[in-house]
Formats: sequence, C-alpha cells, structure tokens
Amino acid sequence: MSEQTVITNIGTLLSGRLDEPVLDADALLLEDGAIAAIGHTADLRGDAAELDAKGTTVLPGLVDNHVHPVMGDYTPRQFQSSYLEGYVHGGVTTVVSAGEVHTPGRPKERAGTKALAMLAHKTFTAFRPLGAKIHAGALLLEDGLTEDDFAELAAEGVHLVGEIGISSVQDAPTAAQMTRWAQAAGMTVTVHVGGTSVPTSRSVDAAFVVEVKPDVAAHVNGGPTAAAIDDVARILDETDAVVEIVHNGNVRAARDVTQLVADRGQLHRLVVGTDSPAGTGVVPLGVLRTMSWISALGGLSGPVTVATATGNTTAARRIPGGVIAVGEPADLVVGDAPDGSQAGDLCAALEAGDTPSIAGVLTDGKLVVTKSRNTPPPLRRPSFWG
Ligand SMILES: [Zn+2]
Repeated sequence: MSEQTVITNIGTLLSGRLDEPVLDADALLLEDGAIAAIGHTADLRGDAAELDAKGTTVLPGLVDNHVHPVMGDYTPRQFQSSYLEGYVHGGVTTVVSAGEVHTPGRPKERAGTKALAMLAHKTFTAFRPLGAKIHAGALLLEDGLTEDDFAELAAEGVHLVGEIGISSVQDAPTAAQMTRWAQAAGMTVTVHVGGTSVPTSRSVDAAFVVEVKPDVAAHVNGGPTAAAIDDVARILDETDAVVEIVHNGNVRAARDVTQLVADRGQLHRLVVGTDSPAGTGVVPLGVLRTMSWISALGGLSGPVTVATATGNTTAARRIPGGVIAVGEPADLVVGDAPDGSQAGDLCAALEAGDTPSIAGVLTDGKLVVTKSRNTPPPLRRPSFWG
C-alpha cells in the first residue's frame, strides 16, 4: 500500500524555480515520500490523509549551501549538539557541507583527508536528523592528492570538494589542477572568497577564483569579511560559478551582491547558506534571516528569494530537491508571516525584513515539525499546528 497525504488550501505555492516562482495551484498530493501531483484542493482531495494549510504558504524545504558538520549532530566548534535538528525547525531540509574542517585532529595529508571525506559522506548518508538530507564528506584538498583519488572517492559517492583556502593546497595552479580532476569526476567545488575566516586559513581574491574556476564562490559577502564588490563582478564575468551569500557575513555586502547579480540578470547564480557553525555560532534561522536580508535590502521579491535558497542551490549542486515538481522529494515547508508582523504572508514578511514563521516541515512526505521551536508562531494556523 502506498502512503498518501494531501496538502490542501495552500494560500501561496512557491516552486523554488526562477522561471515560474509562484504556481497556479493550491494543493499537493504526496505519495511514498515524493510529490505525486500539483493541483487544486477539490481535485486532489480523496482518501489521502489531509493537511489543511489554512491559507499559509508552502515552499520547498530550504537548502543551506554552507555548513561545516563533523560527525553526528554535534559541533566541536561551538560545543553544541542537536543543532542540525534545530536547523530543520528553521525550515532547512537539505544541508551541503563546505568541509568537515572542525573535526578535532583533522588529518592534513592525502590518506587522512580522503578517509575523512569518505567517512563523513557515508555516516551522513545514513544519519538524518528529522529526515534532513545532509550532503557531507566535502574533500579538503591536501598536497599529494592524485587524479585517481578523485575518481575513487566519486565512485564511493563523495560529490563535494570543501572550501579551498582552508587546507594545505593554497596555490592557484595546484588548486586549479585538482579542481579539474574533481569536476571531471562529477564533483562540485567550492572556493573560500574574501578575508581570512580563522587564523589557519587564507584570504582569497578574484584572481585566485578566476584561475581555479570552482562551481561555488563561497560567501562573497564575507565569511565573515567581505570581498570587494569589484571582485564579485569579476567572478561573475570570468567564471561560471554561483556566488553565495551567507549569514556569517557582512550585511551591507549581502545587499550589494544581491543588487549586482540582479542588475546583471543573473539571479540563477545566487545561492544562500549560513557558513555555520562558525565564530558567529550555530544559526537555526540563518537561512531564513539571510533570505530576509536579500529580499528586504537587496530588493528581490519573496518568491524569487525563495528560489535562491532552494532550486538555485540544488541545480548548482546537481542534487535532488529544492523545487515543487512531480517526482521530487516531498521535502516541504509550511510557513507564514509571523504573528504580529506588518506583513500578511511569508513572502511579504521576507520583503519587509521579518523572519518568517515556520508552521510545519515535511521530509520525505512525513510531518517532522508541527510547530517550530525556533520561530514565532504563524499568522494562520494549519490544521496540524501544535
Ligand atoms: Zn570560508
């Protein structure tokens, strides 16, 4: 027997895609953990268990493009556990590692860095806090890695290279060579951009990024110190990388980068992350808050902003999720304006600079959050609230 759920009376259904950010539908049929149909309440209502959204907004589960996990739901950087569960309460259902850099005693040579990436990938494939998908095992580039190493790791499922600039490979020609090997093996590669993050890393300018040509130019608004806006323009001009805005960064630069990318008509190249846990801490609402900055300060509409934190990221990372489409995983957020907001719904709340309310979260079609422990309550309460 298949397991069916229908979400009805959706006030606004956001696709997570820039080409059609708001869908002309008010109901979703979920079957066996995936989205089975998109339509209207009267048509989709049937024998399935019903979740009445009561006019709230439904959107794809948010994707945090920049997290530094270790093993399990614990971070030695901030001595905190269960933080990834807290992120799900902030609407995040997919997490992408930028490298397991906080691992105590992290090995900094060829065999050790490979082992760490493979172990992190394999443990987080099986370990899913509240059903969230943690894409971990982001290989940190150390001197001596060979082309065969990338192929070997890719064959075991490792599909990420962690932030270049943190580990021992610091010269652009070596980083570029390893990036070519990684990309040929199907991996996506991230480069740390801007000022030094912690005393052991380095500052990275546009010339380095242009030579390395990664898939992701990390935290161009600062991690935590922002790159020059001219460097961001050069990265947009001379590479195909997506540019990332993070919570652990500079707020004014977040605004300037958003406007730069929008002015150039390249919003498909904008993605969102937290860059956490970091010195700025564990941030369960980091993706939501960064979205409110880029919408309220950068001038993007709510639906477009949602795409930058969902479908843009899964497209850049070539991973499932991030969009409302038949066959995609039913990883969903039910949200609204927070109670007391001047705004009338989730999108208007983002545009006003408020942090939206998370009224519910589903992973693989199952309700895992019915009342966020981290956001204010919603203006309207869906049937499952509480
Ligand atoms: Zn960084």
